[in-house]
Amino acid sequence: MESKLKRLAHILHSYLQTKCWRSFGSRLELEAHQQKLWQKQSTFLTQNSSFYKKYNGLTLNEYPLMSKSIMMSEFDKINTKNLTKNECLDVALKSEESRDFSPMIEEVSVGLSSGTSGNRGLFLADETERARWAGIILAKALPQHILHPQRIALFLRANNNLYTTLSSNKIQFQFFDLIEKLDAHIDRLNIYQPTILVAPPSMLRMLAKSTGLKINPKRIFSAAEVLDPIDESFLTKRFQQPIHQLYQCTEGFLGASCSHGTIHLNEDYIIIEKEWIDKKNRKFIPIITDLERKTQPIIRYRLNDVLTEKKNPCSCGNPAIAIEQIEGRADDIFYFTSLENKLEPIFPDFLRRRILQADDSIEEYVIKQHSPLKLEVSLFGGNEEKVRAQMTHFFKQQKLQLPDLFFSVYQKPEGLKKMKRVERLFTPESEDLIL
Ligand SMILES: [Zn+2]
Repeated sequence: MESKLKRLAHILHSYLQTKCWRSFGSRLELEAHQQKLWQKQSTFLTQNSSFYKKYNGLTLNEYPLMSKSIMMSEFDKINTKNLTKNECLDVALKSEESRDFSPMIEEVSVGLSSGTSGNRGLFLADETERARWAGIILAKALPQHILHPQRIALFLRANNNLYTTLSSNKIQFQFFDLIEKLDAHIDRLNIYQPTILVAPPSMLRMLAKSTGLKINPKRIFSAAEVLDPIDESFLTKRFQQPIHQLYQCTEGFLGASCSHGTIHLNEDYIIIEKEWIDKKNRKFIPIITDLERKTQPIIRYRLNDVLTEKKNPCSCGNPAIAIEQIEGRADDIFYFTSLENKLEPIFPDFLRRRILQADDSIEEYVIKQHSPLKLEVSLFGGNEEKVRAQMTHFFKQQKLQLPDLFFSVYQKPEGLKKMKRVERLFTPESEDLIL
């Protein structure tokens, strides 16, 4: 009982902190606040993490860049609870096998990011951090006051202690396992009548298309997959409301849509450095420093995501970085061959736009790049020849060699597999790559 009260107090504290005490009128105020938090965090790090001890007294940009592979190889030294990678992996893999989803070592929860077996990340959070996370997500996602009753339906690939932390008397929460059948989801949703629906866009689309779904959520969030403009416009029409976004990954809760529909990064507790990869088109890879996570510090961690910054500040007045689009993984940037035989990067949104411009009767699509000279397109609805013409025009305009473009039958996404509308299937071999 005592620990439950303590947890609720933590949730409420971070809810109020996010909602009321941490709103900033200007960049200057926001950055001063970040610096204050960083001073505290760096003192903690140099005293408690053997990996960061030697950086005592240095400024943030003198700290080393972090990647998933360094995080894993230095795991034992980085975390501040003396946990070893082997014991954490052991616990996480066992619970994944049994789909029990609540691996813990004492009060530290252990999460495993998706990926191929040799390439998975481990993420730790203690009870205070989980409560803090819950408070922040409630502050950023709830359309009304925290005391207003809500029923949240959350579709995930795997449940997690983070999410069950959210349940309380006022705020109900139900987890929907993506592995289950669509009909079962629809029956449960119709009974539960969620006020807030959170799901990957592929699942939102399946729900939207079913005739049996009778729910009327007040707010809908897309999460866990890139929200493609083609899905966004379909879902907005079908649900007759804007589709909000939660930018949440294993590395942290990074951003959410504001009341004006713009995604803002959570700079109130994360410092974001932008590694520009195409400044003219405002595209960057975020390098994140979480100013409060203690169990497993996330310092100058380079994500594998590409974001496009909004051209103009958001009219809501929030000075935190405004994002026009979460483009997807850096691994999905396409590479085509120039007329001079060099590889040139092409960002997913350029291809998305071409498809949409080609024919507005296209309902769904997937583009896969097999090699710099081989491109596969699958359409649901729409005319293939119009797409071919649009693409050919695009490659000529960009002074790229025409790839072999072929069409295949569109396969509906289903089950646990993440939907990707734009996907690169090869690793380019070249010294000139930007990534
Ligand atoms: Zn805004």
